[in-house]
This record gives sequence, C-alpha cells and structure tokens, in this order.
Amino acid sequence: MAAPYQNPIAPGRSWYEETVERPRYPRLDGDLTVDVLIVGGGFTGLSAALHLARAGVDVAVVEAHRFGDGASGRNGGQMGTGQRLWPGEIEEAYGFERSKALFDLAEEAKAHLFDFIAANDLDVDLRHGQLSIAHKQSYLDEYREQVETLHTRYGYTHVSYMEADETAERLGSTRFFGGIRDTGTGHVNPLKLVVGTARLAAASGAKLFEETRIGAPKRTKGRIVAETGHGRISAERVLYAVNAYGPGLDRAIDAHVMPINSFIGATEPLGDSTSVLPGGEACDDSRFVVRYFRKSVDGRLLFGGREAYTSAAGDISRHISKQITEIYPHLRDIRITHAWGGSVGITMERLPFVRTLEPGITTIGGFSGHGVMLANFAGRLYAERVAGNRDRLAEFEALKIPAFPGGRRMRAPLLFLAMTWFSLRDRF
Ligand SMILES: Cc1cc2nc3c(=O)[nH]c(=O)nc-3n(C[C@H](O)[C@H](O)[C@H](O)COP(=O)(O)OP(=O)(O)OC[C@H]3O[C@@H](n4cnc5c(N)ncnc54)[C@H](O)[C@@H]3O)c2cc1C
Repeated sequence: MAAPYQNPIAPGRSWYEETVERPRYPRLDGDLTVDVLIVGGGFTGLSAALHLARAGVDVAVVEAHRFGDGASGRNGGQMGTGQRLWPGEIEEAYGFERSKALFDLAEEAKAHLFDFIAANDLDVDLRHGQLSIAHKQSYLDEYREQVETLHTRYGYTHVSYMEADETAERLGSTRFFGGIRDTGTGHVNPLKLVVGTARLAAASGAKLFEETRIGAPKRTKGRIVAETGHGRISAERVLYAVNAYGPGLDRAIDAHVMPINSFIGATEPLGDSTSVLPGGEACDDSRFVVRYFRKSVDGRLLFGGREAYTSAAGDISRHISKQITEIYPHLRDIRITHAWGGSVGITMERLPFVRTLEPGITTIGGFSGHGVMLANFAGRLYAERVAGNRDRLAEFEALKIPAFPGGRRMRAPLLFLAMTWFSLRDRF
C-alpha cells in the first residue's frame, strides 16, 4: 500500500484527508498561453478559475503542491457572519456606511457559498449554527451590544444573546459565561469544498495544474510571462491567490500578509451519548488566540486553538488535548487521532488585502482566519471584474490595509512579540 500523502508545506495529516478522494492534476510540462493565470489552488484561486471558465475566459491555475495543501483544505470550516472584525470595530475605522457595505458584502459571500453548495449538489458536510462564547464575564456587555447592533443597525436577526444557562446547555460545558447564537451561518468540511470546486472548474474548461510553482513573472511585449521550471506561461492577467504561502513572490504581499500557524486536533468519535454540542453548532471563543471547535459528521470533536508564531509546531496533540480538557473535563482520556496545522494569512487590520500590484496583476488574500466564505466569494468577484460585469472587488480594494511595521527584517520578530503579548493577556 502506498504511504499516505505528506503535505510538504504544513505539519500533520488532517482528518479531512480521510474523508475525500483527492484527484491528482498534472504538473505543467511545457509552455502555455492563457488569458488569465491564477497562482495558488485554494478557495480564492479555484473559485476565480471556476467563475472565469464559466464566463468563457481561458484560464489556468498553477498550484505549487496539491489543491488544498494551503489553508483552504486544512481549516476549521467555520463560515461565521460579517467580516473578521465585529461591525462596531469596523465602524470606528471606516464609519457606518462603509461598515454596512462590508457587512452586506459578507452576507452576499455567505449566500453565495450556500447557493454554490446547493446548486452544484456538493457534499461538503454542511451543518448550520454558530456559537460565539465569552471566556470572561467582563465581555458579556459587549456580546449583548453586538446582538443589539446586528438587529437594529445591520438588519441581521439570526443572532440571539445566550445567558450562561443556555450557553452551558448548547455547549455541554459550564466553562463559559454567555455568548451569541447565530442560526444564519454554518460550517463545512473544507477539503471537500476544495475538491468539489476544482472538479467543477476543470469541467468548465479551466486548466488545472498541481506541483507547478511559478516564480515572479516578467512583462514581455505587453504580456506577463512566468517561469515554472519546466516551461513558461504567458498571460494577459495574473491573480496571486497565494495567501500566507507566497513569500518572495511580491514585496507588497510579503509586507501586508503575514503567516500565523494555527493547529487543529480531531478526537476519536465521541459516541452517541455525549452532551458535547448537542445542536451541532460550531463554536469560537473570545480569546485573542481564539479557540474554535465543532463536531464532525461522524461525531469527532475538531478542536483548534493552538497558535505558533515561529515554524515550530511542538506536540500539537498534547496542547489540543489540554485545551479540550479545560472545556470538557470528562474528555480527559479521549484519543486525538489526527493533529495538523496550517498558515493563516493575517493583515494588520484583520480585513482582506486586495490590491492591483501593477496593471494586470492583482493579489487577493489575508482573510485573517475568515476565508471560508470570503475567499470563495472573492474569487468570484475577481472573475466578475475580469469579465467586466461588476466590480464589487473594489469595496475590498479600497480598504486601507497598512504594511506590518519593521520592514523586511524586523516584521516577523515584531509580530512574534505582539502576538505573544496578546496571547498572554488571554490567560490573565
Ligand atoms: C488551521 C486553520 C484554521 C482556519 N480556520 C478557519 C475557519 O474556521 N474559518 C475561516 O473562515 N477561515 C479559517 N482559516 C482561514 C482560511 O482557511 C483561509 O482564509 C483561506 O483558506 C484562504 O484561501 P486562499 O485560497 O486565499 O489561500 P490558501 O488556501 O492558503 O492557498 C494558497 C495556495 O497558494 C499556493 N502557492 C503559493 N505560492 C505559489 C507559487 N509561487 N506557485 C504556485 N502556487 C503557490 C500554496 O501552495 C497554497 O496552496 C483557517 C486557516 C487555518 C490554517
């Protein structure tokens, strides 16, 4: 029997890899000419390719490894609502009108994903419901205010405030003080979504290549030409959909999107009698280093919470097991069957980084842990822009995302210090 595939860019074999057959796509050998070249085969790149191909555009995706080896195939699968920041936080920086426009765009992203799954009959283990829970009593007023704001100012009525009793009942744990229940969102198996999107893109005529890494392209006679090591690709336009995995490709991406390693563990199935998350919702808590968890369709607890700001993963299972036990002491002896990590691409503002780097070359990424619905939608918005239909991508491009401070050398050490400081605050 062949050894299981080892992802070369992220530690650990994910439980998702046990749930779906991943077709192999060829490496690009030789030269290729297309209208649009997409670099990176995660949600952003594959969704852009699918929608471009459906619009009749000649498009190719090149992925350095395999589709879904980046964040898209290995994440927590939680869709969430709105942007990564709460609307009130965005209002402070951009005012109500812009904040509302960004919220509405995120709602369109959510609707897009629900519709996309249904229209294409994709089996991605979609489940509904999200609980956002407070690990400190002092956060409860803010949670109540969020519900009020979402109802009255953003017209979003799927959320309700949960007192401690309801929180404990829905969670199966008394460790949290209260929270928000959101019945308007859901969670998915992200690798199944990657595999399904790639299949649909290929069926629509997009040219898909794995194990094909491109270096920074050059402009030759009005076209953009990229080397693959085994040939050249010539395109009119290029989309960098490399998120946290493209260091060295472009200086602006390096300065604005930084990788943070996040880790997830899957337990063995908990069995029928468990009181853990009886309603099947996904959860995220109020820590800066957020803990996010949910049950899989076969009753495992998929638990994320450990982060690392260097390349060292440490003993992922041990850390995850400790965090699970803090919330669910009765799961002390539960076995972690899979433990894995991936890089989350974050920006200073925790809002996406979309930029036209030069005419014809666009980058989209930095979803800051909120890409399940946004990255898929951003790919579609890119396709709309190229096809000349609408330019809703401009709303993201207009965001003022500053570069991380410290320049090329000091950026990573400074981020390490800042993140360590905030994660310490979670504990005290
Ligand atoms: C552990 C973890 C948990 C997360 N949980 C959630 C969650 O619950 N909810 C949520 O909304 N978001 C979550 N996220 C974030 C989410 O996964 C991302 O925002 C999203 O997947 C980004 O998709 P993408 O297509 O932009 O990038 P990616 O999926 O990261 O894909 C980028 C791809 O580009 C390729 N690439 C880079 N350079 C080159 C090159 N030169 N040539 C060819 N290919 C190249 C890489 O190999 C990679 O496959 C999580 C992320 C992680 C890591």
